[in-house]
Formats: sequence, structure tokens, C-alpha cells
Amino acid sequence: MKKTTVRLLCFLCALCLLIPACPLMPLAAEKETVCGGDCPYYPTIIVPGLGQSSVVVTDDSGAPLTDRDGKKVSAFPAWIQTGKLIRTLLGPALLSLFTQRDVGFSDAFAEAIYDAFSINRCDENAIPEGNVLTEKFPYSYAKYSDYDKYIVNQHIPFELYPTDLPRDHLYYFEYNSFGNHIGLANELYDFIQLVKAQTGHDKVNLVPLSQGASIVSAMLEYTPAVMDELHKILFVVPALDGSRIIGDVFNDEITFLDSDYLYHGFLENIRLLDAPTAGLIELAARLFPDEVLMSALQKGVRRLVEDVMIRSTGMWALCPSGAYESAAARYLSSPDMAAIKAQTDRYYQVQLHHKDNIRKLQQKGVQVFCVAEYDISLINVGAHWNDQNADFIIQLDSTSMGATSANVGETLPADYKQQNTCCSNPAHDHISPDRVIDASTGLLPDTTFYFKNQRHDLTQWNDVILKLAMQLIAHDDIKDVYTSPAFPQFNYGRNVKNLLALLDKAAGVNRKLLTRRQKAKLNAAVENAEAVLSRTVDGPTAVPDAEAQLHKALVLCGKEKPTVETPDVFTPVSDFLYRHFGSDGYSEYPRLTAKRAVDGAAGFFGAGGKN
Ligand SMILES: [Zn+2]
Ligand SMILES: [Zn+2]
Repeated sequence: MKKTTVRLLCFLCALCLLIPACPLMPLAAEKETVCGGDCPYYPTIIVPGLGQSSVVVTDDSGAPLTDRDGKKVSAFPAWIQTGKLIRTLLGPALLSLFTQRDVGFSDAFAEAIYDAFSINRCDENAIPEGNVLTEKFPYSYAKYSDYDKYIVNQHIPFELYPTDLPRDHLYYFEYNSFGNHIGLANELYDFIQLVKAQTGHDKVNLVPLSQGASIVSAMLEYTPAVMDELHKILFVVPALDGSRIIGDVFNDEITFLDSDYLYHGFLENIRLLDAPTAGLIELAARLFPDEVLMSALQKGVRRLVEDVMIRSTGMWALCPSGAYESAAARYLSSPDMAAIKAQTDRYYQVQLHHKDNIRKLQQKGVQVFCVAEYDISLINVGAHWNDQNADFIIQLDSTSMGATSANVGETLPADYKQQNTCCSNPAHDHISPDRVIDASTGLLPDTTFYFKNQRHDLTQWNDVILKLAMQLIAHDDIKDVYTSPAFPQFNYGRNVKNLLALLDKAAGVNRKLLTRRQKAKLNAAVENAEAVLSRTVDGPTAVPDAEAQLHKALVLCGKEKPTVETPDVFTPVSDFLYRHFGSDGYSEYPRLTAKRAVDGAAGFFGAGGKN
């Protein structure tokens, strides 16, 4: 008894010592804004998406590990240790290649996957147990070091897009994507208290991106009092009802574990994104017999899902509500997963209530806006990748809070009429000009902006979305999709990354050294590119056209190399191999060829054969 009391006292003393050092204690904060809390702006907190925070690997003492270049080692999505990887894989891979049998390769492959991802494993209470550290910024952008700015600008290029919001009102909430979702929701709530204390304002704006929306949504449910501390929320491609990709993975409905689909479907789709990589993967994969390769993939995926992903409630918060119950029955029904299931069940309730909670926010006068993207199928990892419209990573139903849409490449039926489920103004036209979307069935028809052909993971390079966001976080002049012709409800996706790089290059060209013709072409191309960038409403090819014109002018000036179409050697080879040998590895080819010759001869002599 005495011993327990002493321990308790020691614990309390230790706690007291820790308190002043805790960066999230609002008590320690003083007003750090120029305005002292008296200005028309609201402090704004960005809650980024999956992997958009710096989570680094540490040693046992908690100090970040650094690589040879002195850079901190990222833990997201995995900790790749090349030496260890080679040690684990090389022997079994060579043995299996020589013998063309599975001599430990599939087990070694699964072990290598686990080695890389286990840094993000959580314990039986869904608390991360690896040596990882989330680098937090418990201060405003005005106080950011160059390193902080570098980290944040990789995901939200604030330096490229000016906003009237004072920098001492701008905050970025860093978190671990594999973390505990209840813990993350509480951390975000504490962060809001810190921001209020530091800025002197009593309300804040939130900008949740993608996975960040699951944390905001959870916080609204668990700490409803926070609703009175919010002025505006701008959801950007929010994972409010998860991503179907995670739903499929958590229901064991993975496409590429079928060997036929792996070659004729999965890699085909990857080829559209990155032909050389897909080609190399395919040529390497065929080094192994079909059974060895598929066994390795199956075991690897199993270890990743069962030993890492399903232990993270942050990941479970990305499972759509419609896929949750079957996934939970599959993976969380054993007694040792009970503590995790109790937490994911809570998040399931969050998903069921998220629309009600947003309605409550609106009743309290909180402005809620949303950006959704469409007309790009989900990446084809899960069986349901092409069931509904999406933005490559999340299905539109989730990001738009229920908009009705035709599938990618299709339009709504000719006799389809606007449903007006959530819009009460009969004068509003919420059908997209391409007749793909009926925004009136989404929860926020008047404040949701849609971007066609915009990839989720490239959102940061859509300058129009960035400009809209910078305007919304600084001012309240945009009330809805009808306020400004510069920001209509339906717009096109675009990616200005290359165009900005070319403009940078053009700015560095010494005009005095150019001929009159070169100068004229370059200036015209620059002028056109700048005009395109100054417009927020433009045709779908405006950016690529401007890029092509500027590239051509730079080639003329000798500052860029002409584009050479590299012939795609992989596609015809791959198609040939698939046509003749299906998903079999190279070692099977002589046998298959001989068999075919025999079958062919038999057929020729009238013995009959299968086609
Ligand atoms: Zn202020
Ligand atoms: Zn409306």
C-alpha cells in the first residue's frame, strides 16, 4: 500500500515536471498575433490528408534517425531499409529463380513487406508502437523555420498562392496517418484550443483535406462543444465516407491477387500512368512461375493487412460505412481485437452521423464548403474500382456527401431529372454541363465545387482550387457557388506544375542573346501562359496547350530539348506474352510451346483439339 502511494506521488511529480514542456498546453501560450485577437480574420487550421505530415523514424531514445545526406528518415508509408531488404530477399529469390519453385521466396517477400511497414504497427489498443515521431508545428506559419515551410509547402504550396489571411493566423496540424483516430480527434481539439489561445480569437476555420476530414468528423461527434468554436469549414476532397479502395482491401477483394487480372488489367492500368515501371514490374514478375509469384503477393498482402493495417484505427476510419460491418466481422471479431473494434465501432457511428453533424454546424451558423473531384476511376486495387464515379483515390459519393453521378465516361440517363433532395431553390441548376453530376442530392449543393478530370493526389497542383481556398480562408465574400463567376459550381481539373516550372525557366532566359524571332515567340508564349494562369475558368486543354506553346518557344531558344516520343516497347511485348502464355512465368514457355506444337500437329492430323 505504502509502495503504491510512493509510486503514485512519483508519477504525479513526473507529470508536474512534464506539463510546462508540453507543446499543446494552451495555458502556456500567450497572444502571439499582431491583432491580439481583434481583426476580421479567423485563424485557419489545415488538417492535411494521408501521408501529408512529417512522421519520422526515431531511435530508442526518441531522436530522429538520419540518412547519409543528413535527412530525417520518413516512416510513411513504410521504412525502407535497402540493406535489410536485400538480406531478406536475395537468397530465397535466387534459389527460387534457379529451381523455379518456391524455396522460401514467398515467405521472405512477406517478411520484407512486414519489415518495411511494421514501423507503423499499432498495439492491441490501436496505439502506434513503432519508433516514430510526428513533427508538430504548435505555432503559426509566421514562426515557421525554413524546414517547417519546406515540409508544409510540399503539400499545400502557400508560398505560390498569396492569401490575405495574416501568416500569424495560419496553422498546419501534423498527425500520423496510421495513428489512433480517437487520439487524433482529441489532439485536433487541443490544437484548436492552442490556436485560440495564441491568436486571441474565439473561433477558427478548418480546412480538412482527404483523410483529415475523418479526423474533423470524429472530433465533431466526440466533442460537439467544438462546434461553437468554428467559423468555417472547407472540406477538400474529404474522405467523409472513406475510400472504396480501403473497403475492398479490408474485405479481401483485391484485384491483383488474381494472376490473370494482374497482367491483363492491373498492370495494364498502371501502364497508362507509368508505362516503363509497369513494364519492368511485369517482365520481372514473369521470372517466377505463376504459383510462386501469386503466393508471394498473397502472403505479402496478408501480412500488410493483418499485421499492420487492421490494427490502425486511422486506417479503419477510411473504410466506407457500407463496407465496415463485413470487414469488421472478417478481421475484428476475435477477442484480442476487441479493444480495437470498440474504437472502430465508435467511428462507424461517426460515419452514420456525419451529415447530421454538418447540419448542426450549419444551424449554429458555421459556414461549410466542399471541393469534390470526378471522372477518374479509382485506381484498380479493389474489386469495386469501377462501380462509381471517383477521383482516383476516393469515390465521389464520399467526397461530395451524396451527389448522384453517372460512372466515369458515362452520362446521366437522358430523362434524368434533378432530384433536389438537398436543394430547395427550384431556380438552381445543379446538373453539371456534361450531365455527369446531380449536385442537388449532395448534402451541400450550394457550397460544393466540382472539378472534372481532377486527380485527388494532384489537387495541390490545381491553381484554381488553391485560389478558391485562399479566398475562402481569408474572406467571407464567397457565400456559395453562385457568388463569383470566377468560381462556378462546375469547373475543370488542371495541373500547373510543369507550366510553372517552364515559366521559371523562361524568366531566366537572357532576352538580349535571342534573335528577334526567338524573343517574339518566347514572349508570346509567356504572355499566354500568364493569361491562362490568371483565369480561373478556362477550357480543359488551356494548361496543356499553354505548356506546349511555351515548351516549343524554349526549344526554339535552345533552352529545352525537343520532345522525343520514346517508343513503348513494353506494351507490345507484354500483350504478346499475355496472348501466348497468359500469366505464366518464362520457365513455363518451352513446355507450353512444345505442348502447343503437339496439339497443333494433332489438330492438323484430324485428331481434334481444344481451341
Ligand atoms: Zn486576428
Ligand atoms: Zn441549390
